[in-house]
Formats: sequence, C-alpha cells, structure tokens
Amino acid sequence: MLFDLADRRVLVTGGSKGIGLGIATTFAKAGAAVAVTARGEADLAAAAERLAAAGASEVVTVAADVADRASTRAMIREVVERLGGLDVLCANAGVFPEASLATMTEEQLDDVVAVNLKGTVWSVQAAAPALAISGRGRVIITSSITGAITGYPGWAHYGATKAAQLGFMRTAALELAPHGITVNAVLPGNVLTEGLVGMGEGYLAAMTRAVPLGRLGTPEEVGATAAFLATTEAGYLTAQAIVVDGGQILPETPEAILA
Ligand code: NAP
Repeated sequence: MLFDLADRRVLVTGGSKGIGLGIATTFAKAGAAVAVTARGEADLAAAAERLAAAGASEVVTVAADVADRASTRAMIREVVERLGGLDVLCANAGVFPEASLATMTEEQLDDVVAVNLKGTVWSVQAAAPALAISGRGRVIITSSITGAITGYPGWAHYGATKAAQLGFMRTAALELAPHGITVNAVLPGNVLTEGLVGMGEGYLAAMTRAVPLGRLGTPEEVGATAAFLATTEAGYLTAQAIVVDGGQILPETPEAILA
C-alpha cells in the first residue's frame, strides 16, 4: 500500500497542542504508535485520549522540557524503551513570544534560542542512535516561514531561531545520511493553534487577509506534509524545507491577492 505508516514508531515533541498535536493525529490516523511530549501533564493526558480515539496503535506521553538537554535525553530514552524503538522524530516544540528589537532582553533571546534551536538540536542528537537502528529513520523539524523566508516586526529573535533550524538541518542531514536517516523541515505559514489564537483577533484577521487561499491553515494540514516525509516513498528526499502556507509567501504586493 502507498504511504503506509501503520508500523511506524513516532515521537512528536510539543505534541500536546497545536501543530504538534495535528502532526501526532495524522500519524495516529495512519495507525502508527505515537509518543507525544511537552511540559504540561494535563494537556498531554488530553492529547493521549484524542490520539487513541484517532486510531494510534499505541500512545505514550512523557513530560519533558526540550530546552533542558538532560530532560530531553531522559525523555527520548523513555520513549524508545516504551515504543520498542523509534522510526520518526518530529522536532516540533517551540515558543513565539513577542519582543521588539528596541527592548529585547538577553533573557528573552536566550529563552527562545533554548527551546526553538537548542531543543531541536538536543532532540535530534538524542534520537539519532535509535533512528539509525530503525534503518528508515526520519527527522521532521517544524520551522516556519518567519525568519526562514519572511520577517515580522516583534519576532526577530523567533525568526532567527526558525532560520537557524534550517542551517542545522543541512549539516545534520549529511551527518545522518550514512545511517539511512533523512532530515527535512516543514515551514508552516499561519496555522490556527492555541498559540496563534493567543496573538489576538486583530493579528488573526490581518494574517487571514495575507493568505491567497483566504484562510489560516489547520494543524492537520501541516501533519499531512510531515506524514508524507515519513513514508518509505519519501526516502530519497532529504534536507528540504517544505512551505505549507496557503500561498502566503507568494504575493509581491497585497493587491496580488484576488478576492
Ligand atoms: P502551541 O499551540 O503553543 O504548542 C506548542 C507545543 O510545544 C505545546 O505542546 C507546548 O507544551 C510545547 N512546548 C513549548 N515549549 C516547550 C518546551 N520548552 N519543552 C517541551 N515542549 C514545549 O504552538 P504551535 O502554534 O502549535 O507551534 C508549534 C511549532 O510550530 C513551533 O515550533 C512553532 O514555531 C511552529 N510554527 C507555528 C506556526 C503557527 O502559525 N501556529 C507557524 C509557523 C511555525 P507545553 O507548553 O506544555 O510545554
């Protein structure tokens, strides 16, 4: 069967909400064994119920902070043990607090770098040995159009980490290729998640107007792209950054978006 993921063991960091839960749900619907991790236990428990109902063959949750290297290593060790191995790592956990360049503090910059960049590096580093044993290992990083392609006032520090994830991806793909592991990234545009709703109605309306397809994305639309990257059929695709944005990066001027 084409695109069959039923026998895969998948870990999604930041899988308790938003895009991570959308990615985990897509794998669950495909019948995969799915582990989700995040810091908050209550959201993890709710996510586990949804993933079991969606069809996951097994659901594992582990509370961990990806900004903490030791916590990330312990989390991945536990997931590998409980799933009996690991085929797919979705390094998705991320934060996007606002901070203008004029007032940004060292702590604000450090916090975003710790979760978005270091968290990605620590997750991939810790998962690599298990992915190598799998023989069909896949890493899928959640980056963003912000920073990697576009800019947005108030998110310079965030954008820097999202671009940095792609720099990391390119060398990680080379180092992991001999182990049969591919490393790719999805670059969502504006996806309707709990985190995005927190940015307020005005932001959501402005972003919707900026999307040629006329709506924000759904977490499962990002999940579908991530799931494709995990398939056997995508096995010759590595170090690629795939934009999932309803065409948001396309228009040269706002007038290019037709009603
Ligand atoms: P979200 O709704 O706020 O969910 C974020 C998830 O990451 C939650 O499960 C959260 O759980 C977890 N998380 C946050 N900090 C963590 C940490 N230090 N350690 C472990 N888990 C942590 O955010 P989202 O919108 O789905 O964003 C997810 C990813 O997509 C991020 O990498 C973001 O940059 C990217 N993205 C989002 C959009 C968008 O439009 N939404 C667009 C482009 C890219 P806890 O808080 O309980 O830890």
